[in-house]
Amino acid sequence: MEGEEFVRVFDSSGNLVFDNSGEKFRPPDDPAAVSAALSGSRTRTNLDLGPELRALTAPIHANGQVIGAVEVGLSTDDVHSTLRTLLIIIAVTYPLALVIASGGGVFLAGRALSPIDGLTRTARRISAEDLSRRLDMRLPDDEVGRLARTFDEMIARLDDAFRRQRQFTADASHELRTPLTAIKGQTEVALQRDRDPAEYRSVLRNVNTEVDRMIRLVSSLLTLARADAHQVPLAKEDISLGALVSDAADQVRSAADNKGVSMRLRNGGETRVTADQDLLLQLILNLLDNAVKHTPSGGSIDVSWSKADGQAKVVVSDEGPGIPTEHLPRIFDRFYRVDKARSREGGGVGLGLSICRWIAQAHGGTIQADNAPGQGATFTVHLPIN
Ligand code: ADP
Repeated sequence: MEGEEFVRVFDSSGNLVFDNSGEKFRPPDDPAAVSAALSGSRTRTNLDLGPELRALTAPIHANGQVIGAVEVGLSTDDVHSTLRTLLIIIAVTYPLALVIASGGGVFLAGRALSPIDGLTRTARRISAEDLSRRLDMRLPDDEVGRLARTFDEMIARLDDAFRRQRQFTADASHELRTPLTAIKGQTEVALQRDRDPAEYRSVLRNVNTEVDRMIRLVSSLLTLARADAHQVPLAKEDISLGALVSDAADQVRSAADNKGVSMRLRNGGETRVTADQDLLLQLILNLLDNAVKHTPSGGSIDVSWSKADGQAKVVVSDEGPGIPTEHLPRIFDRFYRVDKARSREGGGVGLGLSICRWIAQAHGGTIQADNAPGQGATFTVHLPIN
């Protein structure tokens, strides 16, 4: 504001030589400050002349000498009013900005989290009885989208596991009921009247056959249940595959001979593996049993062992009817049989190959079924070598 600043100049004797402060706005004389300036130092003072002023009295130098003093004053009102305005702006805008920022934050967080809310609601509706539900949320491929998709995949796996479990229980119950029904039928008929000892013996023999079937079934179920629960410790040792195959072949030889089926063992070289002897024997026995069962009289079975590419290999081929191509992918499933009636007649319950697959996998290996055209089925087991 005009008149709220002044300049006064003093000569080297302290006489006022220039003054623009005017009559109405007269700053008090400050001889102490002037003489301090003439001796080279500056003095700052605050003046209250209606408006508040800040004054500076300083020496004027020329050629290294103090030739006078100058006193300048400037109103601090402008500064104060600017500060006040700034304070008002801050006081108004800060809470406003805070409100907008919080509102925006809540809005954005709500938008980001709303799919999670949907996810939670759907997840709550999914129960063990209704695993067919999926979130099926069309979300972008971000963190939440990936979470929703992973959740759906997990439910699909659970659904599959539960379905298999239910199927397994139903199949097991059915398989157990069949021999029990046969036993019940036979004993009921036998008990209807007195019979001679030969008839009783015949009934007992049939009952015995059915009980054998049940024992086989129950012990297979037990093996698979333990395998599922990872409760079968593998007693691994160094084994000669050739010796093990010969051992298995000896055990099925009489059944093969009775059926008129020959067995050829082909030694592809000394092959040693680290494996659980009993389990590996069971695997090969199951394959040989099946081969004997499916090979017609006069046919032959080929069993070979060898090592290649760091793996041991056992191949069992037969001259039976082979496995229809459409059944190949499911042949290792539990209770899966190509021809249920014929397999049951032969004492099969459809668990042998599932056990074979578990044994191969438990040893870090694989098992695979193929058909050699016109030559029957071929089962190939690969095992990691020592
Ligand atoms: P099973 O106890 O019925 O023999 P497996 O699990 O051992 O059960 O075999 C499953 C099914 O695979 C059999 O029912 C049979 O249909 C088929 N299969 C297994 N081995 C052979 C084979 N060597 N030749 C033809 N079919 C086979």
